Amino acid sequence: MCGIVGYTGFGNARDIVLDGLKTLEYRGYDSAGVALGGDYIAVYKTAGSVDALNIPDCAAHIAIGHTRWATHGSPTQKNAHPHLSFDGSVAVVHNGVIENCEQLKAELVAKGIKFASDTDSEIIAHMLALEGGDMRAAVEKVAGRIVGAATLLALRKGDDRIYMLRKGASLAVGVGEGECFVASDTLALGKYVRSAYILSDGECAVISPITASFFKDGVKIFKTPTEIKRTPPTPCACHMRSEIDEIPTALKRTFLSVLDSVDETLLSDVRNAKRIFFVGCGTAYHAGLYGKLLLEKLLNVPCEATLASEFDGVRLHGENNYAIFITQSGETADTLQALDRCKRHGIPTLAITNVGGSSITFAADRTLLLEAGAEVAVAATKSYNCQLLAIYMLAKMANGVGFFANLPDELHSAIQDVYGADLYEERIRTSNLFFIGKGADYVTAREGALKFKEITYKMTDAYAAGELKHGAIALIDDNSTVIVTLTNPKDKHRIAAAVSELRSRGAYVLAISAVGDVGADKTFALPHLSDDDLYPLLSVIPLQNLALTASLCLGYDPDKPRNLAKSVTVI
Ligand code: GLU
Repeated sequence: MCGIVGYTGFGNARDIVLDGLKTLEYRGYDSAGVALGGDYIAVYKTAGSVDALNIPDCAAHIAIGHTRWATHGSPTQKNAHPHLSFDGSVAVVHNGVIENCEQLKAELVAKGIKFASDTDSEIIAHMLALEGGDMRAAVEKVAGRIVGAATLLALRKGDDRIYMLRKGASLAVGVGEGECFVASDTLALGKYVRSAYILSDGECAVISPITASFFKDGVKIFKTPTEIKRTPPTPCACHMRSEIDEIPTALKRTFLSVLDSVDETLLSDVRNAKRIFFVGCGTAYHAGLYGKLLLEKLLNVPCEATLASEFDGVRLHGENNYAIFITQSGETADTLQALDRCKRHGIPTLAITNVGGSSITFAADRTLLLEAGAEVAVAATKSYNCQLLAIYMLAKMANGVGFFANLPDELHSAIQDVYGADLYEERIRTSNLFFIGKGADYVTAREGALKFKEITYKMTDAYAAGELKHGAIALIDDNSTVIVTLTNPKDKHRIAAAVSELRSRGAYVLAISAVGDVGADKTFALPHLSDDDLYPLLSVIPLQNLALTASLCLGYDPDKPRNLAKSVTVI
């Protein structure tokens, strides 16, 4: 989950690495740190944000840096990366979880090595220093002893090279004039180089001011660079605000990208499937739930939406399965692991992701790129709307629709109306909050509840409207606020009955409705759309806005919610 940056060259290593860390801070913000190389290694660390790092101006030409999402040891200064070896000769930054760290640590302790942190990562620095000799060979050897994930950068005293290996989370190398760069995400490189070498799992690289060399299992390999198309977002006061505001333009880019990528082969794979799996985590899982409902309805094919972390091989029997993996970052470790399982069963795979060149684009048979633009606020917003649009278009095309008249314009104008919906009221902060819906609206309710939890830290949950009376209605009293989403006319009577039952028990009910009044205390009317299946793209926006407003009113930073990180690269 962490952000890793390295630089070696004739420029100012301190400034370049700090700049990269700021760009990657969405990947983890428990702590930050930088090691400056040269005749000796100077390490600067802080708990919390990169802004709190205090590194004096200096002329260092080689540096590595890290923003952490803690897995082993609390988010303190001492546990911040980089970690120095016992003799101060090697500094290391690490992304991942070392599963056999207790065993490796015990071996080092038996050799008299004292640990300065509680992290699993520190063992790498000590092991590399003990290995000595050829640093590249040492990196490969040490990584080979690690069970788990260990993407790492290492620098050595008196050496102008950075050594790295990818085991799990991604790494990209950029080669400039008299300088080389490395980062976990090409977003941090685009300012300096036009293309990047994306390391595949198990590959090692060594960068110096003049060159980059790549290795696999000790053997030199040749790699082709990939063009960097992504640009970091312009700095702004609230990324989540601007990402919600960008939804119409992001949808337009998704629309064009899907039209460009979907071909007859892909459509016939979907049409001919006997069972379709949608796999994702968090918000992407909710997009999968929408996909399941839509494809079952339109193609009459059984579908399953599964959390990637719960995806096991048990269901993968039978023929003509097809699997669709949804991940904003393309680096979600649980999703990549589930995809790997499908590939081992010979199941064709499609990735829906926002990040070109990400791990899933190499792993899946086919990719639909969302092209939503960089999303750095941890709580996903525009990428979700774009995932829904990609799935909508795929399902409709598989069902024979070949032409989407004015779809981006229709969505653009409807979304402008929805931006005006302000559901926030003071009681949202203080009362017990519930989200309800039926069918695709229940999916929207779940996404609304997740958004609210992520950035307000308040307990809330989503329920299928018809299920309330089978248990959860016991929670309802006059300190309850219920937000109901209703977009399907055939659900109107059932939802109206639920609203009446809730209000009879004291709840205050707010409705987001495309089908008129259902007896709520307040109703926000959704603008008309030409196809009911499109409503989930629209009706979630007031819920995204509600979570954002509540978070700001509570005094939190919605872009960096506690305990979370954007790109979940650990299992
Ligand atoms: N497991 C390491 C730690 O807790 C690395 C975490 C990360 O990837 O940020 O420090």
